[in-house]
Amino acid sequence: MLKIENLHVRVAGKEILKGLNLTVKPGEVHAIMGPNGAGKSTLGNVLAGRDGYEVTAGTIDYFDKDLLDLEPEARAAEGVFLAFQYPVEIPGVNNTYFLKAALNAQRKHRGEPELDSMQFLKLVREKLRVLHISDDLLHRAVNEGFSGGEKKRNEIFQMALLEPRVAILDETDSGLDIDALKMVAEGVNHMRNPDRAFIMVTHYQRLLDYIVPDFVHVLADGRIVESGDKTLALKLEEHGYAWLRDRQVPDA
Ligand code: ADP
Ligand code: MG
Ligand code: MG
Repeated sequence: MLKIENLHVRVAGKEILKGLNLTVKPGEVHAIMGPNGAGKSTLGNVLAGRDGYEVTAGTIDYFDKDLLDLEPEARAAEGVFLAFQYPVEIPGVNNTYFLKAALNAQRKHRGEPELDSMQFLKLVREKLRVLHISDDLLHRAVNEGFSGGEKKRNEIFQMALLEPRVAILDETDSGLDIDALKMVAEGVNHMRNPDRAFIMVTHYQRLLDYIVPDFVHVLADGRIVESGDKTLALKLEEHGYAWLRDRQVPDA
């Protein structure tokens, strides 16, 4: 599904990713942990195709296509979804309108008919029902005045509507209380299926009690330096990243 090889990325003239390798198959959940400034958000931004990230070497294969050849809109239409650590507020733009426009833009890109208002509302109601979330956020402006928990809830809802093939969640657990954390986890677990993969950037082992990952990776200094199963997250929680650093062989 997704194969990242020897990825080197420069941000503002500085090399941030330095030969990152990661392979993600359908159905898998990958957790990415690592110290601040390691390049975790950079990885998500590069996958989504955001401006300002210069790929200087390496490849990203996505369903046998070169992801780097695709515009951000095309990536989204092909099922790449990035949930932000800090979701943007769009004052004055109704959330329902925004979600409908986002979904229809993707459908149009794929050559699928756009949904009219009736069809869209039917879909919205269905998603609200299966995710057990209320519709109170739909009538407000996009993320405006939303609490941290509400923004995440909205993000999970957006993800459910767009039905991505690979969803990247960047610290979607940061600053959440336990109820909001469980809501995010329920949403993700509900969406887990054999065709969909998740890449979850997180600082906290806690989230992984609720969303049990297939793989845990440590991203440090622009590379994946360690991979394992969920027990790796427990070891990190106990020993910190220094433990890994001490075991690493320094670069030549
Ligand atoms: P992480 O998410 O692992 O904490 P980031 O990918 O956000 O790390 O950042 C990695 C490094 O890249 C940091 O040193 C950060 O300051 C730098 N960086 C990220 N985005 C930018 C930017 N737009 N301009 C300048 N530096 C940036
Ligand atoms: Mg950070
Ligand atoms: Mg980050």
